[in-house]
Amino acid sequence: MEIKDMNRRTFLKRTITVALGAWLLGMIPFEKIANTLFEANAASDTEPDVIIIGAGVAGLSAAYTLKQNGMKPLVLEARNRIGGRIWTDKQSFDKPLDLGATWIHGVTNNPITKLAKQQNIQILHVEEQDVVYNKLGKKMTEDHLDALEKKYDDLLEEVADIAEAESDNPTFSLQKAFDQVFRNHGFTKQELLELNLMVHTNIEHEYAADLADLSPKLWNDDGEFGGVDAIFLKGYDQITSFLAKGLSIKTETIVREISLGEQVTVTTNRGVFTADHVIVTVPLGVLKKGSIKFSPALPARKQQAISQLGMGVLDKVYMQFPSVFWDKNADWMHYMAADRGSLPEFYNIYKYTKQPILLGFNAGSFAKKAEKLADKEVVLQMMSTLKVMFGNKIPNPVRTKITRWSSDPYAYGSYSYNAVLTNADDRDALAEPVGEQLFFAGEATSADYFATVHGAYLTGIREAKRIIEIL
Ligand SMILES: Cc1cc2nc3c(=O)[nH]c(=O)nc-3n(C[C@H](O)[C@H](O)[C@H](O)COP(=O)(O)OP(=O)(O)OC[C@H]3O[C@@H](n4cnc5c(N)ncnc54)[C@H](O)[C@@H]3O)c2cc1C
Repeated sequence: MEIKDMNRRTFLKRTITVALGAWLLGMIPFEKIANTLFEANAASDTEPDVIIIGAGVAGLSAAYTLKQNGMKPLVLEARNRIGGRIWTDKQSFDKPLDLGATWIHGVTNNPITKLAKQQNIQILHVEEQDVVYNKLGKKMTEDHLDALEKKYDDLLEEVADIAEAESDNPTFSLQKAFDQVFRNHGFTKQELLELNLMVHTNIEHEYAADLADLSPKLWNDDGEFGGVDAIFLKGYDQITSFLAKGLSIKTETIVREISLGEQVTVTTNRGVFTADHVIVTVPLGVLKKGSIKFSPALPARKQQAISQLGMGVLDKVYMQFPSVFWDKNADWMHYMAADRGSLPEFYNIYKYTKQPILLGFNAGSFAKKAEKLADKEVVLQMMSTLKVMFGNKIPNPVRTKITRWSSDPYAYGSYSYNAVLTNADDRDALAEPVGEQLFFAGEATSADYFATVHGAYLTGIREAKRIIEIL
């Protein structure tokens, strides 16, 4: 139903009538109706000062900050849940497991650590015990692994030099830089296999993109907090739930168009909303897809940034087994696949939950291909790798859960990366407000901490403060 020109009161009346009608006809359960009425009512109480699009951590931190400063933000969220790329699954397994973000990367001075401490949310510091299995399924010795890490670190310096020398070449990728370094050294096949494992684990999985798509100069142009990483045993969503408390949030509200005029008009599947200021926090993937129409069109420089930044893919495959057959003390177990990209790493969930669960990852183009497969086939691929590592007799998983972030219409990817064509100031251009009406937050707008929860969180606060300063 097109309700573009309907005022809010008429829209509410109609929503309530339609909802009650649907309930009476037995089309939707009562809880859903109650929810609809409650949300519609909450939104109708007062006109919001600021509309925030997206209830991920950036949108919620913006709304939280505005509310703390006496303002009336309204959050519009397309999904039927809050959290966005923070998504704790409490149904599939006996313990809550995160399908999006898992770790606080670098606990020292990290704002997420501070928030968890303030709210008494338990976090657990984790180690990085790596075990690597070669293509025959034999464990690599620690000395061998240390030597490999050293060799890889040295190569990174050479890669950086080559990237610098090729600065003027717009099509030069990180892959090309590595190819050049590998050629210069004339490594053996075995050495290349080992170095490829390092590249895949440390770069392609971390940045969720293939070397061929990453900028040779800017791929690791992000800052980090010090200290170890940490996980939330009861789920990352404790952070988003805390931020969301007491906020006015309308879920299942898909924003289709944002028009600037005297006020900003936001058109959704559930009516039209207006406010003096709007903060857009939807993922870069959604902006790239053009799912939201901006009127007038976004400034050319912002459009350029949207197109030049990359949206990467990292997918998770949780598998619960009847019992543990792997090294109970390892954190990470890597397989040195001949074909770089084919399922080489698993995270030992047992170590922290005592549940016999392994978490496998797919990244970059390999993940995009895997998203087209049925769950059964993805698990089969994982199992064939695990069988090389742990023998043919290992049992099949009894429960599985697989993500498909690239196909998700409210994300179209897992997190942003600096692509071959990315400019150093693209993230600032993406973050740049349009006048005093339209603001942008979200992980991709963080030049310092893109692709992280803390990065997204800080951008929400940044834009909230910007609006508070204007007012
Ligand atoms: C698999 C995976 C693993 C990760 N691991 C980590 C990790 O361990 N540590 C870490 O720090 N970070 C990690 N990240 C990154 C981190 O999750 C994100 O950087 C962060 O959560 C992004 O928050 P955000 O608010 O910017 O975006 P989002 O959380 O995506 O929020 C944007 C919101 O906008 C909504 N939306 C989209 N389109 C519309 C529309 N048209 N109308 C209304 N609403 C809309 C979305 O539904 C979403 O809720 C991971 C991400 C993934 C996917």
